Amino acid sequence: MAMNKVPGHNIYIGGLFSLRNKVALSRANITHIVSVLRLQPTDDTFLAYQHHHIGVDDVEDENLLEHFPAAIEFIQSGLDAGGGVLVHCAMGKSRSATICIAYLLHRQRSAFTPQSALALLRESRPLCEPNPGFMKQLELYHHMGCPTDVTSHPAYSRWLYHREVEESVACGRAPELNSILFEDEQPQQQDDTAGELTEVKCRRCRRKLAIARFVVPHGAQQDVKAAITSECAHIFLNPLTWMRPSLFPNSPDPSADLASEDAPLSGRLTCPNTSCGANIGKFAWQGMQCSCGDWVVPAIGLARARVDISEPVTIRRGSGNLAPGIRLPPNMRSSTVDTSNTGPTSERDPAKGSL
Ligand SMILES: [Zn+2]
Ligand SMILES: [Zn+2]
Repeated sequence: MAMNKVPGHNIYIGGLFSLRNKVALSRANITHIVSVLRLQPTDDTFLAYQHHHIGVDDVEDENLLEHFPAAIEFIQSGLDAGGGVLVHCAMGKSRSATICIAYLLHRQRSAFTPQSALALLRESRPLCEPNPGFMKQLELYHHMGCPTDVTSHPAYSRWLYHREVEESVACGRAPELNSILFEDEQPQQQDDTAGELTEVKCRRCRRKLAIARFVVPHGAQQDVKAAITSECAHIFLNPLTWMRPSLFPNSPDPSADLASEDAPLSGRLTCPNTSCGANIGKFAWQGMQCSCGDWVVPAIGLARARVDISEPVTIRRGSGNLAPGIRLPPNMRSSTVDTSNTGPTSERDPAKGSL
C-alpha cells in the first residue's frame, strides 16, 4: 500500500513498501524519514535522507513513549526546513501511526485527544490502528501535558514502576526493591495537595500510616476521597517507605542496592511502630480482590477495620468556611469538615481521634 498524507500536515505514513517507491517519495518532497521498527544496520536505503531510527517491535509492552520527544523534534525539524516527512514502520498501521499521533498531540494538545488524532489519520489511511499498549502510552503522554522531557516526569516513573511489577509478577516473583516507586519519596505534583490533611492511622497505636494522596482509588471510586469514605474492606495504598520491612523482609538495609530475590509475592503489612506491630493489612503483588469485587493490581491494602481516618483539627480553624465566633450544635459540626463525607469511618469526631 502506498504512503498516505496526514491531513493538514506535510507528514506521510507508510509501510516498508513505501520506501521502494522513489517517485512517490520525490513527488512528496520527502527529506526526512522516521523508521519505527528494527532495521538491519547496513541498510543504505536512507543515505539520501535525514533519518531517525526507533528500533522497537509492535508489541503492547514496548516502550515507545520514551521515544516521542526525539521523534517529534526530528519531524518538526524536517517540516521547518520545508521538507516532507515520512514516518514508516512495517505495515504503516501501529508504530508509525503512534508516532504521528504523538506529533499531533504535541503540536495541538488542546485540539486533539489520542482518539481524535487517530480519527484524523484514518481519514487518509483507514488501516491505522496503534496497538492497545501504544494507545495507553499516547493517553499517558497527553495526560502528562505532552512534555518535551518525558522520562523525568513523575507520571512516567509511575508507569515504569507498574510495568516492572507486571513483568515480575508474570514471572511469578516479587518485583525487585530498586524498581519500587515509594510514593512518599517522589516529588509532589502541584495539583495534588487536595486531601493532604486527611490521615490514615493505625487504630491500635495512632501511628500515621498515610495521607490521602497515597491512596489508590479502585473500582467505582472516582478519587481518593471516594476511596477513603467507601464501604470497601480495604484502603489501597501506593508503596510507602515504612512498608519496606513488610514488602522486603530480607533486605533490611534500605541503602543496600541488592536484588531482593527472596521477597515474598504476598504477605502481611505490620504497623511500622515497632512497639505496636499490629497486623494492619496485606499486600499481593499479583493483585487481590476487594470486598466490592474489584481486582486491584498490585495490591497493598490496609484493612479498614484496623485503621482510623482523621482530619486534623487545623483544617477546621484554617478552612475559612465559617466566620469566627459562629457556633454550631455538635451534630452539625462534622459538616464543616467535609459535607461529602458520608462513609462510616468519617463520622467519628476527628478531634477525638487525635487524643
Ligand atoms: Zn500501630
Ligand atoms: Zn473495593
